[in-house]
Amino acid sequence: MSEIVRQKISAKAEEFTESVIREMTRVALQYDAVNLAQGFPDFPCPLELKQAAYEAIEADINQYAITWGDRPFRHAIAKKVRWYLGLDIDPETQITVTCGSTEAMASVMLATVNPGDEVIVFEPYYENYGPDAILAGAIPRYVTLHPPHWTFDEAQLRQAFNANTKAIIINTPHNPTGKVFTREELTLIAELCQKWDVLAFTDEIYEHILYDGTQHIALATLPGMEERTVTINGLSKTYSVTGWRVGYILANPELTGAIRKVHDFLTVGAPAPLQRAGVAAMQLPPSYYEELAKLYQQKRDSILQILDQVGIPYFVPKGAYYVLADISKFGYKTDVEFTYHLIKNIGVAVVPSSSFFSEPEKGHSLIRFCFSKRPETLKIASDRLLKLQSNLQPT
Ligand code: PLP
Repeated sequence: MSEIVRQKISAKAEEFTESVIREMTRVALQYDAVNLAQGFPDFPCPLELKQAAYEAIEADINQYAITWGDRPFRHAIAKKVRWYLGLDIDPETQITVTCGSTEAMASVMLATVNPGDEVIVFEPYYENYGPDAILAGAIPRYVTLHPPHWTFDEAQLRQAFNANTKAIIINTPHNPTGKVFTREELTLIAELCQKWDVLAFTDEIYEHILYDGTQHIALATLPGMEERTVTINGLSKTYSVTGWRVGYILANPELTGAIRKVHDFLTVGAPAPLQRAGVAAMQLPPSYYEELAKLYQQKRDSILQILDQVGIPYFVPKGAYYVLADISKFGYKTDVEFTYHLIKNIGVAVVPSSSFFSEPEKGHSLIRFCFSKRPETLKIASDRLLKLQSNLQPT
């Protein structure tokens, strides 16, 4: 690239690195590898959602919806949130529908964070939070989650809070570790948020994907937290429609006003017919969520069995649909090197974990498997991974 063109690129864009998660999907296609990298199911979404989407398109619901979300969808979200979380949310003043929870987090950060404000992030973290912080001009303060149970050190968390802290990002169930924050942990976070007058942005997109009877606790339900918590969620994971790009934000009316303005100018609105299908999603009976959790429990158990057979140590996830595995015994210099070997020579794509850390070295011994796949897909991956022991040569 010529120097003249390079000079035109913004400092913010220069700071970004490409999303490694998405890069791995492209590389998987290039090498015809089984994609256990990016977090999306390879099985269909519920029929009710497909039918509602067809019907909405057929009924000519194909123009802009109200920018902050189609009214029936917002009302359906409020009803489901009341049922599942016990939260009373006013659909007129407290819900903003967005293009996925990805746009939701970016809108929330841009609506609340001033350049120079500090934002606390637990690491490893979902890759997008770094660029979101850069976009908003935030200074990230990282608090480490320690294996095997991805607990954090109370003293480190306390130290991360100060007068410049604007917000803390929580993600429970957590990508990439599969950690589900306990009530005790969330209570401490809530206490510190109130002590330092800090907002909490909680990404709860995996709220229904839980293992071994683990309970999801929504931060907004803790005493004193409803007003200062911004809850981010979406259709992608619970209803297996990651390509639809429909998410939503629950926040107090004042914050919602600011978030709606930012969202309005970012994307105008989420796809109108798919918001109608979102109503059908919110109306699915409780048995849908029970079945979903059972289905994922089988998938989680099956990937752990595969990793046991192949001989790759891992950290058992309690929620979400990923498992972090420890590759240190294979003797590769970095997670990226090992990942490329897996993709090119074994035919299985995963995500190298250095992209989930503020300093890549911290992730060099870990890779992430996504297991939201059909049993047939997991079987092919298993057959290929079993060749790993006899094919350990770097590329
Ligand atoms: N938040 C977390 C923690 C995720 O893991 C993902 C996707 O993998 C997203 C958000 C993106 O969700 P959406 O499809 O709603 O933008």
